[in-house]
Amino acid sequence: NTQRKQAEIALRQSRDQLKITNTALLKASRAKNEFLATMSHELRTPLNGILGLCELMRMQIYGALNEKQMNAIKNIDASGQHLLSLINDVLDLSKVEAGMLEVHPEPLSIAEVCQASLTFIKEPASKKGLTVEFIPDPRVSIVLADERRLKQILVNLLSNAVKFTPSPGKVTLQVQAKPLEHCIDFAVIDTGIGIAADDLPRLFSPFTQVDSSLTRQYEGTGLGLALVKDLVELHGGSVRVTSQPGAGSQFTVSLPWQFDSLLQEASDSPESEYERFSPAQFRADRNPPARVLLVDDVELNLLAIGDYLDSLGYGLIYARGGQEAIEQARKHTPDIILMDIQMPDVDGLEATRQLRREPRFAATPIIALTALAMAGDREKCLAAGASGYISKPVNLKQLADLMRGLLKPRA
Ligand code: ADP
Repeated sequence: NTQRKQAEIALRQSRDQLKITNTALLKASRAKNEFLATMSHELRTPLNGILGLCELMRMQIYGALNEKQMNAIKNIDASGQHLLSLINDVLDLSKVEAGMLEVHPEPLSIAEVCQASLTFIKEPASKKGLTVEFIPDPRVSIVLADERRLKQILVNLLSNAVKFTPSPGKVTLQVQAKPLEHCIDFAVIDTGIGIAADDLPRLFSPFTQVDSSLTRQYEGTGLGLALVKDLVELHGGSVRVTSQPGAGSQFTVSLPWQFDSLLQEASDSPESEYERFSPAQFRADRNPPARVLLVDDVELNLLAIGDYLDSLGYGLIYARGGQEAIEQARKHTPDIILMDIQMPDVDGLEATRQLRREPRFAATPIIALTALAMAGDREKCLAAGASGYISKPVNLKQLADLMRGLLKPRA
């Protein structure tokens, strides 16, 4: 009994000790992150001064420079830029760890973000004699992401690809839509030195470099990939790598393919049969494919929903207003109509009413899309003649299910 009591006391003591240690660790970690954040900030201020003056000197605002001076200034500038990017990485990483880094996703043009990221490596790549290729996916043009952060992710991966690929070689940025997984893949593929299988698992931890010897050939801090992983995860995505030593590496970033709301996916509609249903199958089901008239006055909505439906094998017709919707419907006789409700001039309710008056559209499924998810909205849409109703932000999966349901009886 006394033995048991003693054991209990010892246990309690060690538990208390653990608690104290944990608190101390937490404090230390917070102090570290705060220190890093402050330091990075303090380091950046004078560095910006140096870089600014460098630029003025390069522009020869302070008088003509001879060749040697010009070279020296260029080197100061290059080293300064390098230092700045390291400091920024440290700052970002400490922010992520402190839970202070936020991403602000918005609909972005994939082509624009990719091209902008590629310009960062065009010069270093061509200097090294590497070819750079961009392979977009025609099925998808919009991604929901934080512009600055997505560029940072891509530039990081692309710079690594250039850095670790000797000439002659190739760096490819490939975008791929994955409709069934509801994600968009961005793959950075190189034909470089590759990475040994043993080293792959630790690549994404901070300060990891495969070759950390003093004689190492490649400079760097090992922060880049850790940051890429953090930033991708903040977007609700994931990053993976495959590589073959001597043949090359592929880093793939998967971002959720969502239209409007980052948080919608999980809570909404129970996993439907859509999950078990492949676009190829759908294409085969309907020959020719069902044609959708998509009506919205906001171009981005047209693009985003259009991309998605296109990837599912639908044929698309677009209209940017109520009047145009009526004209397009008369011209193309679509199998189904997706009608935005709030539009200037002829709104979606009015357009629906007018279409319903024409016998040829009496039975055409019309789905109303509206942001006004208020009581009575649904009734208004149905009274105008809509066959179904979806509130914005549109959950793509839900939309696909509803469309299939409405189209099936006629297939
Ligand atoms: P840094 O490039 O600053 O060293 P990173 O976190 O970006 O840091 O990369 C970590 C390590 O992963 C690199 O040092 C390198 O060994 C390896 N690595 C990253 N990208 C590639 C690549 N495309 N090919 C070969 N090795 C790579």
